[in-house]
Amino acid sequence: MKLYNSLTKQKETLNPQNNTINIYSCGPTVYNFAHIGNLKAYVFMDQLYRTFEYLGYNVNSVMNITDVGHLTSDADEGDDKMLVASQREKKSPWEIAEFYTKAFMTDIDKMNITHPKHIVPATTVIPEIIEFVQGLLNKGFAYETSKGIYFNITKFDDYGALSGTKIEDKLMGARIDVDEEKKHPADFALWIKAPKNHIMQWESPWGMGYPGWHIECSAIGRKFFGDHIDIHTGGIDHKTVHHENEIAQNDCLNGKKTVDFWMHCEFMNVDNVKMSKSLGNLYTLKDIEEKGFSAMCYRYFIYSTHYAKPANFSFESLKNAQNSLKQLNKLVNDHKNSPETTDMEVLNQIAAFDNEFRKEIADDINMPKALAVCWKMLKAVPKCHQAYEQFVKFNKVLGFVLTEFDANEEIPEEIISLANQRWQAKLNKDFVLADALRNALSEKGFDILDKKDGFDIIKK
Ligand code: AMP
Ligand code: ZN
Repeated sequence: MKLYNSLTKQKETLNPQNNTINIYSCGPTVYNFAHIGNLKAYVFMDQLYRTFEYLGYNVNSVMNITDVGHLTSDADEGDDKMLVASQREKKSPWEIAEFYTKAFMTDIDKMNITHPKHIVPATTVIPEIIEFVQGLLNKGFAYETSKGIYFNITKFDDYGALSGTKIEDKLMGARIDVDEEKKHPADFALWIKAPKNHIMQWESPWGMGYPGWHIECSAIGRKFFGDHIDIHTGGIDHKTVHHENEIAQNDCLNGKKTVDFWMHCEFMNVDNVKMSKSLGNLYTLKDIEEKGFSAMCYRYFIYSTHYAKPANFSFESLKNAQNSLKQLNKLVNDHKNSPETTDMEVLNQIAAFDNEFRKEIADDINMPKALAVCWKMLKAVPKCHQAYEQFVKFNKVLGFVLTEFDANEEIPEEIISLANQRWQAKLNKDFVLADALRNALSEKGFDILDKKDGFDIIKK
């Protein structure tokens, strides 16, 4: 199994300590609905889980829910995002967290994303966070100011190794209005002392306060995995600040490298610009559903690009994904409704496709190529039930919820006639008529899937 490690910047062989792979994933900040860009990061997390399980490993997985401490700027400035939402919606931060956590879970269920074994809100691990901060203070990696407890980045020689950021560059990039009490402008908050009227605050050895954002992931990782994590995932935007800070916290407390593999999912862009709340160029799952696309179409669309490459969202590409998914469903069902074969050559052919599929997923989770292997198998193998069974196995990794096609379903004569007329129009290159007939069929509830030398009619 080879995976691209963002820390070493190369593909490396994973040598787990045992058959169980520990995976930690940065979870959502629950102050708003997730957009489909966010969901790409969790489909990637799911691909990892599913791949390991297909290859015979066990997965122990943890994901946090950020329900406190993520400030509007990743560099410890601005207000807590939970408070901003709480003022916006005139609800308590707890109500905000509950509402958007539920919305997030609904979205990931629609996307058929496997739930991590442990889903942990930051507010449920305050004692573990305090213990972690105290540990860093005891070891001399942190210090107290009137505002809170800060991590001293100059004490960690490897600071910046993940993103290639030098501490000196951090100094240049720092804001002018630096906090005089901080030893280095880029030192980050582990614990923030709360003003009296701050809504979310807890008792601590340093008075009432709340945790910084980065420390929650370190404390939750430690709670479930101790001082060793096989793989840590997150979106690429977390690499330069959040993950550098996590590494500093973990490795300083543990006195050793804590995470073996850092894996980052690239962005979902729109017109080659990152989809994000701040730019307002985002779509939620609900938005695409309202335009007639299911979560599965989006899942299929995600597989058109390797996770480590940026993807570019457009409704046109989503439409293509929808058509491909329909054709895939059709092919799968054709095999499903076929008898079993006893032809050894065909069975060997299927086994060879399984090997090819394993090779692709074991090569840094190459889903575009793995999906291509599925297509190849379904097309190359003569129709038989075993090909369907093999696809069901592949689908443990792909994670599609497939539509059932009833082979015996009667298609009305009128529909068959319209579809034949459309095919004829297409052959005559009368595309205006062909499109009009396709639309008419669509209004009557049928889709046409064109093949090389004919078409299938599919009830929507
Ligand atoms: P947040 O809730 O903002 O912490 O983001 C949740 C996850 O989505 C993080 O892993 C982010 O890195 C990731 N993310 C944010 N925007 C995008 C995007 N446009 N494409 C892919 N992943 C994203
Ligand atoms: Zn995190």
